[in-house]
Amino acid sequence: MSTRLNLSGLEPLHISPEANFINIGERTNVTGSRKFARLIREGNFEEALSIARQQVENGAQVLDINMDDALLDGEKAMTVFLNLLQAEPDIARIPVMIDSSKPDILLAGLKCVQGKCIVNSISLKEGEAKFIREAKACLRFGAAVVVMAFDEQGQADTLERRIAISERAYGILTGKVGFPPSDIIFDLNIFPIATGIEEHNNYAVDFIEATRAVKAKLPGVKVSGGVSNLSFSFRGNDTVRDAMHAIFLYHAVRAGMDMGIVNAGRLPVYDDIPAGLRTLCEGVILNRDKEATEKLLVFAESVKSQGKKTEKDLGWRRQPVEQRLSHALVNGLVEFIEADTEEARQAYDKPLDVIEGPLMAGMNVVGDLFGSGKMFLPQVVKSARVMKKSVAYLLPFIEEEKQKHPREAKENTPKILLATVKGDVHDIGKNIVGVVLSCNGYEVIDLGVMVPAEKILDEAIRQKADLIGVSGLITPSLDEMVHVAAEMKRRDLRLPLMIGGATTSRIHTAVKIEPEYDNGVVHIQDASRSVTAASQLLNASTRQTFLGRTRTEYARLRADFEKKQGVKEYIPYEQACRQPEITDWSGFTAVRPQFTGTKVFKKVSLSEIRKFMDWTPFFIAWELHGKFPALLDDGVVGREATGLYRDAQEMLDTIIAEEWLEANGVIGFWPAARTAPDTITLYRDDGRKLEQLESLRQQIKKAPGQPSFSLSDFIAPPLPGKHQPRDYMGAFTVSVSGIEPHIKRYLEDYDDYHKIMLQALSDRLVESFAEWLHHQVRKEYWGYAPDEDLSLEEVIKEQYRGIRPAPGYPACPDHTEKRKLFSLLKATEHTGTQLTEHLAMYPASSVCGWYFSHPRSHYFGVGKIREDQLRDYARRKGMAEEELRKWLKPNLA
Ligand code: SAH
Repeated sequence: MSTRLNLSGLEPLHISPEANFINIGERTNVTGSRKFARLIREGNFEEALSIARQQVENGAQVLDINMDDALLDGEKAMTVFLNLLQAEPDIARIPVMIDSSKPDILLAGLKCVQGKCIVNSISLKEGEAKFIREAKACLRFGAAVVVMAFDEQGQADTLERRIAISERAYGILTGKVGFPPSDIIFDLNIFPIATGIEEHNNYAVDFIEATRAVKAKLPGVKVSGGVSNLSFSFRGNDTVRDAMHAIFLYHAVRAGMDMGIVNAGRLPVYDDIPAGLRTLCEGVILNRDKEATEKLLVFAESVKSQGKKTEKDLGWRRQPVEQRLSHALVNGLVEFIEADTEEARQAYDKPLDVIEGPLMAGMNVVGDLFGSGKMFLPQVVKSARVMKKSVAYLLPFIEEEKQKHPREAKENTPKILLATVKGDVHDIGKNIVGVVLSCNGYEVIDLGVMVPAEKILDEAIRQKADLIGVSGLITPSLDEMVHVAAEMKRRDLRLPLMIGGATTSRIHTAVKIEPEYDNGVVHIQDASRSVTAASQLLNASTRQTFLGRTRTEYARLRADFEKKQGVKEYIPYEQACRQPEITDWSGFTAVRPQFTGTKVFKKVSLSEIRKFMDWTPFFIAWELHGKFPALLDDGVVGREATGLYRDAQEMLDTIIAEEWLEANGVIGFWPAARTAPDTITLYRDDGRKLEQLESLRQQIKKAPGQPSFSLSDFIAPPLPGKHQPRDYMGAFTVSVSGIEPHIKRYLEDYDDYHKIMLQALSDRLVESFAEWLHHQVRKEYWGYAPDEDLSLEEVIKEQYRGIRPAPGYPACPDHTEKRKLFSLLKATEHTGTQLTEHLAMYPASSVCGWYFSHPRSHYFGVGKIREDQLRDYARRKGMAEEELRKWLKPNLA
């Protein structure tokens, strides 16, 4: 039985028992937000949507929507709002929680949402018959359901009644209705505390204990609650309210609470709450003493007028050496690490004992804080440096010890071998995983980038690795991973294989990789999960269960996948070609670029490029999720994000001042015509043919009248009866080079933090370079939008005219067209950018693409194509079908 709650908007959200707390955004609720209520009542749905968007941007993972207002036609409001919302991909990305106490409104909502939503809520309030009826409706729509702890007697306000009602509801749902337990969420009633009424004092404790009991007794269910209710008596005092919420959640989540309705942008970190306030809040929440409420009230009065003070606190230097080491690790402080390590070395018997004793203990604290969401990746990476510095200091002593007592040298640290697969040069993700794993007591052997399967396996055997992790960013790497798995089987290896990297996915791992190898293949979603997976895989007592569970899950994913395959309908390629997107070219005149042929850009000013920086992906690289700049003020990750941002700015200043990196690029424009349904021919100025570009066309069956997209549709055909081109097309490559000596320097200083920072910034700079150059192209070099006047935000959202699709991306998934792009631009000659055998670009910080200027050009995904198109495509390209089949594997239906 699966214990995961699987939800989805446009994107899936899987809530496993180990998942962190799930934020449910609360501001799109007419009873909770006066502003939202007013907007809905006035029919100002546009602005109401912006509140939803804000919630998503602030990190809400599910969106609660409530239209229960006496003045509203709730069914209609729910229907209109949800329908509008579904059309906003940035909001509809996350699952919806349809919130109402009225079954008709719930039903109206269920009829609108795509994906898998949550219904909030049903209860036994009006008896079993009604409860069953409503539960069945939810089941029929495939929704998960929140069950309020409410029965015929009223709302449960004691521990016992909360448990009893949950047990009864669970029995009915799983027994009579046939509801999967993992789709049942209990709302165990969060009531206001510190109200001055004595009976209310234990409400929070009861909720927390009820959570613990329900999670223990009713396997598979989830627990939720509306968190703001708790602090109702402190309305107007957000400092106290926010602190109460954070502290309450800290305890409730540890007791098993899975999700809650919260103001997503405003949760402080438990450890950041000043100790005094924390103790007072904890007193009230855990009902520690009778005066707790009174004390918090007094404090609440004073809190409004307080400022903040920070000063360097060296008090920790007075603690014993073990604590100092731990403090340095947790806070990433290298200043005293050698002195402290030396002191510990003298205090301990053997140098190795220092590592296995206080250092590991300190890293365990780091691991725990990270695992429980109290520390974030950048901090962990800084800790790693402290650890590595200390170990480096000890190493000569350990060697000396080994000389003296050779037979004692026993090794039991598990070894994990990591590599970026052949043909791929991207390694930030892998580096981060390496750091996180080494912080958690694993020895990491990193083979670097572009490592052939053979070398990975040879090294794994030679170095007696316990686990292999492969990583990759570009799509051909997926196949390479399949190959690694198959080779592991052929060579009869026993150690498990972890899969990670930007293009990898659970579904691909399940469908394509896992079937190739029987001794364990596990997909790793992000660096923070790598630790749990590694520890489960490397512990003899958990390994089989963990693998068993993973296998079952992957088998289910495969089965689902097969089912879906059957459902999708495709049309013949020939038919797809007859429905291009743009059919009417009468009256079309192209804008002629300033020049044809190429133009090279050498050593472009990094300060200019920097102005076009999109910061959000930078934070994603560091696993701090949220939208820039709002992220800097985020309640959970804001402080960490701000520190990281400051460090990034500082490094950028140095990169620019000391000219560490160089930005080079080349653009080109050529006369172009669509000369066959999916062929664009490029010409020289004298009219001779220069190159023929081939594109792929969607074949999925669409609604009648809908075109089948292909990039060639954005280029005009020659005038009827003529042969000359009347349109233009462009291309570019950009790269940022020179990173190597600096990476080497950081490596020698064990400074992963700055190493990863530099890689991330180099990637950011090349993306900004592409953005900057595209901007120059639109305004000047091609000049089809000379008057463009967009804000940076609009530019980053690509709200300009024209696109720059990149070969290997969804609109043009065939990487081999990159060879033509490179040769047209003479890219390697002009800029030094090279193509690997799998057509990744080196330096890793490189971007390339085609330029289209047509006002209607847009990005899309080709999706799956059929054999008939593959055959035609192979013919047009003059390539063997078999060879193309390899390159286009992910796109073959
Ligand atoms: N601001 C982002 C830009 C990079 S992602 C950053 O700094 O990271 C956007 C780019 O990906 C586009 O400019 C385009 O080159 C490519 N892209 C996105 N979707 C695509 C699609 N469907 N087909 C082809 N290329 C696509």
